[in-house]
Formats: sequence, C-alpha cells, structure tokens
Amino acid sequence: MSGYVLSSTSLPVPETHQTNSLKPTSQTLDNDILYAFKSPFELKQIHAQIIKTNTSPSILPISRVASVCALTPTFPYAQKIIQLSNKPETVIWNSCLKAFAESDSPNDAIRLFYQLCKHDVPLDAFTFSFLLKACTKLSYGLYGRIIHGFIEKLGFQSNLFLQNSMVHLYAVSGEIDNACLLFDKMSERDVVTWNIMITQLVKKGNVDEAYGFFSRMPERNVRSWTSMIMGFVQCGKPKEAIDLFTQMEDKMLSPNEVTLVAVLAACADIGALDLGKKIHDSLNKKGFTTNIHICNTLIDMYIKCGCLESALTIFNNMEKRTIVSWSAMIQGLAINGKGEEAFKLYSQMIQSQIKPNGVTFIGLLHACSHMGMVKKGLQLFTNMTKDYKIIPRIEHYGCMVDLYSRAGLLQEAHEFIKNMPIKPNGVVWGALLGGCRVHKNIEIAEEAIKHLLELDPLNDGYYVVLSNIYAEAKRWDDVARVRKLMRDNGVKKTPGSSSISINGKVHEFVAGDETHPENDAIQERWKELLEEMKKRGYVPNTSVVLLDIEESEKVRFLLGHSEKLAVVFGLMKTGDGMPIRVMKNLRVCEDCHVALKMISEIVDREIVVRDRSRFHCFKNGVCSCKNYW
Ligand code: ZN
Ligand code: ZN
Repeated sequence: MSGYVLSSTSLPVPETHQTNSLKPTSQTLDNDILYAFKSPFELKQIHAQIIKTNTSPSILPISRVASVCALTPTFPYAQKIIQLSNKPETVIWNSCLKAFAESDSPNDAIRLFYQLCKHDVPLDAFTFSFLLKACTKLSYGLYGRIIHGFIEKLGFQSNLFLQNSMVHLYAVSGEIDNACLLFDKMSERDVVTWNIMITQLVKKGNVDEAYGFFSRMPERNVRSWTSMIMGFVQCGKPKEAIDLFTQMEDKMLSPNEVTLVAVLAACADIGALDLGKKIHDSLNKKGFTTNIHICNTLIDMYIKCGCLESALTIFNNMEKRTIVSWSAMIQGLAINGKGEEAFKLYSQMIQSQIKPNGVTFIGLLHACSHMGMVKKGLQLFTNMTKDYKIIPRIEHYGCMVDLYSRAGLLQEAHEFIKNMPIKPNGVVWGALLGGCRVHKNIEIAEEAIKHLLELDPLNDGYYVVLSNIYAEAKRWDDVARVRKLMRDNGVKKTPGSSSISINGKVHEFVAGDETHPENDAIQERWKELLEEMKKRGYVPNTSVVLLDIEESEKVRFLLGHSEKLAVVFGLMKTGDGMPIRVMKNLRVCEDCHVALKMISEIVDREIVVRDRSRFHCFKNGVCSCKNYW
C-alpha cells in the first residue's frame, strides 16, 4: 500500500488496530493528507498521526494551520505549532490576516486582529496595513478610528503607507473631515496621499475642493491628472477638463486609457471634434480601438459632435457590438433626421439576436417623430412593454408627446400627457409647447406654459416662446403682459453662449461678446455677410428680443447672438467647403435659425449647431430639423 488515506470525517485510528504494514512513514503522509484538514478537529487527527509516527511536526503546513484555527478557541494550539516550527509568528499571522482582508468576509480580519491582541502576538506595520485594507473594504470609519489609536500607541504613526491607508479609510467611510484632518497633520506626504484626497473628493462630487488639492500638489502623476479630468467631466465642466488635458500633454505626460476615455466624454459634451479626432488617433496607435467600451465612447463622441459618418465607420468596423453600440447608433441616426436608416439598423440588430432596451426605443421613437409616423410610434410604444417588458420612462413619454405635437395632433398630445402615470416634466410640456408654436395653437400653448412656469419659473426660454406665439398672432397686449410677467417674476435672461473648436482650442462666445481678441475682424466679416443676407431678404426678427428697448437696440442684440458670432468666426478660421460645428447652451432662436439657413446657402457650407435639445444641420438654405425644434 502506497497511500494512507484519512477521510475527512474519520477519527484517529486507535493504536491497537494498527498493523505494522499500515504504519505510515513521513513519506506516506504526503501533501494530499497534510493539506486535507478543514477544521481544527481534523488538524488534530493529522497531528496525532504525526506524533504516532514520530514525524517532525514541522511538516505541517503552518499557514494552513493558522487559517483553520485563527478564529476558533484553538488559537493557542495553533500558536504553539507555529512557535515550534521556528518560523516568525507575526509573518504567519499577517499572511492569514491578508487572506481574510482580501476575502469576501473582511470582518474575519478584524476578528483575527482581536485574537492576536488577546494572545500577545507581536504586531508590526504589515499587520496594520492588512487590517486597514479590511476596514476599507467594509467602509467602516469606527474601526478606522480604533485602529488609528493602536497605530499611534504602538508608534507606527510615522509610517507613510499606513497613514495613506488611514486617510483613504476615513475618506471612503464618509469621514472626509477626518481624512482632511489627518492629511493636515502628516509631516510627510507623497503623490499617493494627494491622489487619495483628489480621487475621494471627486467621488463625493466635491470637485472644487479636489481642484484645490490638485493645484497645491508639489508633483503630479498621470493618476492625479486623470482623477481631476474625470472630476471635471462628471460635474459638467468639460471645458476645464479639456484645458487640464492640454496642460497635462504640455508636461509630456502620457495619458492612459482612462484619461483618454474621460477626455472623449468631455469632447462629446462640448463638441470638440478636432480634439476628439486626435484622441481617436492616439487610441488607434495604442491599439485600444478593439475595446468595445472605448468604441462605444468614440461613437457617442462623434454623434454628439454631429459627425455621423465617423460614428458609422467605427460602428461598422466593430467586431463585437453591445446593445449600447446599437442604441447609440440608432439614436444618432434618428436625431440627425435619418429615420429610415435608423429603422434599417434596428432590423439588423434584431436579426443579430440583440434584445432592444429602453434607450433603443427612445431612438426609434425619435425616428418616428422626425418622419411624422404617428401610428408606427404608437405601435412601438405599446410593443416595448408588451414584447420586451420595458417600463416606459419619462423620456419615452416625452418622445410620444413630441411625436403627436410635431404631427399637429395637439389635442391628442395634451390628452396623452393628462393620462400619463408619472408626473410630466419640463421636456414633456416643452414638446407640447413646441408643437403649439409651429401649429399656432395659443390656447394649448398657454396651458403648457402654465405647467412649465410651475416647474421652472426662472427659465426665460418659455417666456420667449409664448411672446413669439402672441407676436405672430399680433396680440401685442399679450406680448406686453408676458414681458411684465417676466419682470415681476424676476426672471433674468440666461446669457446665451456658443462654442466652436478650432485646431483643438475651444473658443467661447457669449451673446454681445466683444472681448474676443479677433473681434474687429469678426465684426468686419459679419457686416459683409449681413449685406449679402439683406439682399436676399433677411430682416432681423426682433420679436424674439423680450427687452423694453429701442428697435435699433433690439437689432443690435439680435445680431450679437452667440451662435452667429461663433459661425462667423468658424467661417474665418476654416477652409472653403469645411463644415462648421457650433455648440449652443440654449435653444437656437427663430432669428438665428433663419439667418443660419441663409448663411449655409451663401457660403455653401454645412453648418451644424447642437443646441440644448437637438442638432440643426443647415445646408443649402434648409435645416434638418425641418423648422421644428
Ligand atoms: Zn439667436
Ligand atoms: Zn433647425
């Protein structure tokens, strides 16, 4: 017999039953048996065999002995075995602590720590590092404070690694003030210390404070820059994110994948297509463009920058696509007025056995809206819940109201809103208002405005639309009433601002802005263009200016609208035939819409304007929104 089998449940074999031929030697106590024990009881069985066979107990796997007995009353027994093995006790227990800390029950590490203290095991810095790791996993600040006390008492407080771990623990446990306190007290800090503070403050949404730390840092690494860039993107400050990225590149630091994805998101938000393209190039060079997540981010960036073709190229070259890729592309086609292509893609998606999600349906409903397909939209809206068990969200309701309103079915749209199971928001009422503007329905418009002003009384955009509707109906008393209402409610006009990215630099124009370094040249070019526009019948539509000022002042205001300035600047800075892409923070006004249509024809350029809610692609004197926005 070559093996000695000890089943995990067998009891120690009484000596009298042993025959000489079965007597195990140290060779027969092979690893399978030595490692087979799962409880202190089974360990004792094996230990008994070792004693009986006069084998040295040092063949017992010490770390396993430790982990099996660690949290049981047999701790002192294991401690003796370890001490007999002549191996450093603290090291053995630390490795056990580390395993517990990394396991699914980090609480075990804390229980073991109490055993170590109770049985006078000497503790070292590693002990505390693993313990802090466990506490961080539990995000439990109280433990942190207790351990902090031990660390101070045992004199490890000058250990930088432990201090960093403690700062981290306080921060993740929601005790950011304690983290700051400890940070301030530290006599020495390294880049890790600073990065912890920045990352955690960003995670808490406290970006300004994070930036305070970032600016005070003596030296920064890629991680510091990346955390800060991500922070700016998350809190809706894409321009700051891009500026920071430019500074990072100036320092010759090489961004990683995470940095690049964050910057791409910033490019998407601000419409910085040329920087987006540059990042696409470097992702290509680094071989990251096979990653699905990165491809999806690129698709999103190109779509949001109004560059549908590039988004399609990436989409078509993807080896594998997720529902995110399909939905983004369908939505992209739909908002750019390419409804038929959106439906074609949807059929392909279904053929590829991909199940649509809520976002897919938003795209499809948009497509129906654009093509005036009310019946089809209604059918999709029903099927979405019936066939795919998707509960409609507020966005889906918004699409439906948009669909009805665009088609001029304002009564139906209003009924639909009244029957909604969830409270309609500004987008829903706004869609109805848009329909009223195009189809000239004052009565329902007043109803929509009533709700919009309840939801968002300081949004000047609604007053402008209502006033325009009255102006078109020549109801001047009502126009004056709206203006008074606006004044009485203390509504201040949000300054319109538009940005355009030229050679990687984002230029921002605020309405009436004359501070741009090239202002004189811009005004000169604008004047020339205006002459040509006037020849073609352009008359500034001053009804969109809701200010009690002279008519000539109104014209001056209108001509200084930010999107007009940005487009003129774009014409100056880009070559013939190049498309112009502008991002606007508010809705494009009626006058700019007319003006940009005309400009696209005069200069024979494609002008893409992304406003707060949609894309306008002006080409040959018409807009892709079909004058409905
Ligand atoms: Zn305008
Ligand atoms: Zn348009």
